[in-house]
Amino acid sequence: MASSLRVLIHGGGIGGLTLAADLARRGHTVEVAEIRDELDALGVGIIQPTNALHVMREIGVLDACLEAGFEWEVLTIADPAGNALARIPQPRMGEVPAANGIPRPALAKVLGDAAVAAGAKVRFGVTITELDDDGAGVDVTLSDGSTGRWDLVAGFDGIGSPLRTRLYGDRYAPAYTGFANWRVTLPRPADVQGVVMATAGKEAKALLTPITDELMYLGAVFAEAEDFRPDPEHAHEELAKRLALFSGPVAEALAAVTDPSAVVYSRISQVTVEEPWHVGRVVLAGDAAHASTPHLAQGAAMAVEDALVLAESLDTATTVPAALEAWEARRRPRAMWVQAMSRAVLKQEMGAETTAEEDALLAVGIPGAAHVLAKPY
Ligand SMILES: Cc1cc2nc3c(=O)[nH]c(=O)nc-3n(C[C@H](O)[C@H](O)[C@H](O)COP(=O)(O)OP(=O)(O)OC[C@H]3O[C@@H](n4cnc5c(N)ncnc54)[C@H](O)[C@@H]3O)c2cc1C
Repeated sequence: MASSLRVLIHGGGIGGLTLAADLARRGHTVEVAEIRDELDALGVGIIQPTNALHVMREIGVLDACLEAGFEWEVLTIADPAGNALARIPQPRMGEVPAANGIPRPALAKVLGDAAVAAGAKVRFGVTITELDDDGAGVDVTLSDGSTGRWDLVAGFDGIGSPLRTRLYGDRYAPAYTGFANWRVTLPRPADVQGVVMATAGKEAKALLTPITDELMYLGAVFAEAEDFRPDPEHAHEELAKRLALFSGPVAEALAAVTDPSAVVYSRISQVTVEEPWHVGRVVLAGDAAHASTPHLAQGAAMAVEDALVLAESLDTATTVPAALEAWEARRRPRAMWVQAMSRAVLKQEMGAETTAEEDALLAVGIPGAAHVLAKPY
């Protein structure tokens, strides 16, 4: 579109801030309404695969991400004692690095700074309380009583998306997969130069992910009852018990965990909005539309791709509804592929029965998926 648009982004997480930075640098008027009081994030790390780093380059923050994180190239598959069984170089998208580990708070700061520097207004402690789309624009009231009229409202408000509930009721509530992720941030031993995936058959898998020169995180997935929560006094011991099959670097890393509050426990859920991801001038993207299990480390990568492609679509289409149609046509197949593949890997790793469709995806494998996702989107 030739004209400058007014866009309200609901949610200042990874996808929302990326969209804010990109739209603002393209000359649009952008506000982010973020419910939290500040741009913090879970104090654990995240993997930025090459396709995510490509988006970071497009919005001008690749160097800042690499500086705040730990660039790596080779995924090592190891036995429970940490002996390398395979070393798998990760693909690059063109000249972009293969992968970067980064603390989530550092990524939030990089993206928040980029959004503000590009001219976006980021408002904290606010959420949408009223929304009226009359076809020509959207009138919005925020929880602080302020009002505005927007050409587009973009919901990047995460897996629990209140905007999704407003649009579709509870039809797409997050579905618990039966599995949960345990994570803890630790000092990085010098020889952890890339992700190390140590497996003990189908019973357990532990990942060591470097996120800075000094730090890495240990992550592991286990089947857990939906209402299970680690004992706040003994979470580190509960994690150690689950990883008892491991010796070597995983056991050494675990031995350093003495504070139960250092353990971050997250249930793994999925969301698939099957209806169109936009209703009039309100669109859902990122986890709000298509949250997947973390088995390909691609959820945030999909969110930032969503953001970049949305900004591109708004620039090239002649109307906002046409842009949203074009955007979803590009995004849905790829995001759904990531979701199906991630879910298939989860089921395979946990020894659950897989469908013929999932077996076909599993034939591609995690290394094959990385190559598929390193292609232009
Ligand atoms: C265990 C685990 C490990 C993962 N590891 C990786 C990885 O290595 N690599 C990767 O690419 N992905 C990973 N992911 C997925 C990734 O974290 C998500 O896909 C990504 O954060 C989604 O981005 P988003 O912008 O859609 O949502 P979020 O980043 O969750 O942001 C949502 C934002 O909306 C805000 N919000 C919520 N409600 C409201 C409201 N009512 N009003 C205003 N704002 C609101 C929230 O406060 C938040 O700031 C992992 C996920 C899990 C669970």
